[in-house]
Amino acid sequence: MATKRKPSFNSHNPVNDEVVGTYPLWSKSEVNEAVAHARAASPTWQKIGYAARKNTLLAWSSLIINRIEDIAHIISLETGKPMSDARLEVSIAVSHIGWAARHAEDVMRTSYRRPGLLMANMSATVERAPLGVIGVIGPWNYPLFTPVGSIAYALAAGNTVVFKPSEFTPGVGVWLEESFNEIAPFADIFTTITGLGETGGALCASGVDKISFTGSTRTAQLVAAQCAATMTPVVLECGGKDPVIVAADADIKRAVDATMWSAMANAGQSCIGAERVYVDEKVADEFIVRAVELASTIHAGAPGDGNYGPATMPSQVKIIQSHIKSAIADGGTCVYGGPKSVQAPFVQPVVLVDVPEHSTAVREETFGPIIIINRVTSMREAIELSNASRYGLGANVWSRRQGKKIASQLICGMVAINSTFAFAAIASVPFGGVKDSGSGRVHGPEGLLEYTFARTVVRSRFYLPLSFLSFKRRPQDDKLVIKLTKLLKGRLG
Ligand code: NAD
Repeated sequence: MATKRKPSFNSHNPVNDEVVGTYPLWSKSEVNEAVAHARAASPTWQKIGYAARKNTLLAWSSLIINRIEDIAHIISLETGKPMSDARLEVSIAVSHIGWAARHAEDVMRTSYRRPGLLMANMSATVERAPLGVIGVIGPWNYPLFTPVGSIAYALAAGNTVVFKPSEFTPGVGVWLEESFNEIAPFADIFTTITGLGETGGALCASGVDKISFTGSTRTAQLVAAQCAATMTPVVLECGGKDPVIVAADADIKRAVDATMWSAMANAGQSCIGAERVYVDEKVADEFIVRAVELASTIHAGAPGDGNYGPATMPSQVKIIQSHIKSAIADGGTCVYGGPKSVQAPFVQPVVLVDVPEHSTAVREETFGPIIIINRVTSMREAIELSNASRYGLGANVWSRRQGKKIASQLICGMVAINSTFAFAAIASVPFGGVKDSGSGRVHGPEGLLEYTFARTVVRSRFYLPLSFLSFKRRPQDDKLVIKLTKLLKGRLG
């Protein structure tokens, strides 16, 4: 009797649509089983301790960097990005694994707090404990770097992990699991499950102790709604519409170079990629001329040919096209490229200027190699327009003297002054957004603590003659508390 074939799906090379791999579609019951195994492995992974976890993670990071060509090749094949970009992604991901491994113990160290006057006889401590099993759901645009920003920190904190990679990059997810299991001290510490949105939904419903999601705002809403039903907490890393503010005192040459790279690298498919520029009108013409000059030197193409690759997700091409069209219909001008730059699966660079703020192209995430450059009369206007977005992920500020002042007024999770993207590569700082860009943080101590819970432990060191937490409390004790509260202006606690 023929055995029934398990349902599967294909991963495609976006350059030519060739099938590059076939992966199982994990069902709800299979996802629950994987989570049950991860839960069974969790106590041992916790007990093994910081040093053993650190050694495991450092061994994993060495293995990854030693096989950088293998994993970079899979990344490039599944996303279409150039090999050099894929290699850079691997290197940055490895540095995050190293940071999480080396700092987990310190970040989770028990902290001692002041008990206050009223509780002066108590010691007050806060311990940090791993949550248990973390479900990680990843996107395709940085299929290694992005999920590793959750996986490595969750593992270092003592959790086991079940990871659902994007259906566009399952090969990267499977490679990640296989490489970990080559050095893992035992099974089920880190498991990859493959599938479409339904498999991600099953992970949300599986009873994991937290979901760390990276992807679009639309899916984040579905994930958060589903997790609410089981009180599963979530970290949500979503889309952005990152602004670039260019002051009159900026180094325009550097600002243009970094902004065009930020907007166009990875075919514009970066959550923290520059999408809109607010440039002081005094230097706007120079900025635009240089931006056009630079755009004319780069082009999209297959790995080995283009400066950046195709749109990885075929459906994104229509969104990019509609944003270019709406920018023009709303009164914007194409100064480089235009609707004809969209030659699926590739999109050649497009530079648009003076696009009204109400345009969809200014308001919504384009996720393509398009940059909108709008003139402003003051930095105050630039800040107001930057903050007017429903997104609040990252921002870039270019100014020789006002960088910090401008940065401190931006409503977003990360700002790079006279730079771009750098915060993503600095493992010690948190990464994440506000508003529709999400909540919670990955990376750094804040990112690591996301995968822990605080356990407050207070202990009587000695007994006071006055016992406030007792039915034996006397009227004179109440009077004393009120008197002390008045005297110390509420600083009793
Ligand atoms: P997406 O939302 O389409 O998919 C993300 C993941 O969610 C995939 O693994 C997908 O299979 C899964 N999924 C889909 N439906 C689901 C459901 N109902 N329940 C659970 N999981 C489900 O996003 P994408 O297209 O893969 O990624 C691009 C988006 O990610 C962009 O908006 C980009 O800005 C954002 N992004 C954000 C960050 C960040 O750190 N803030 C980083 C990278 C990408």
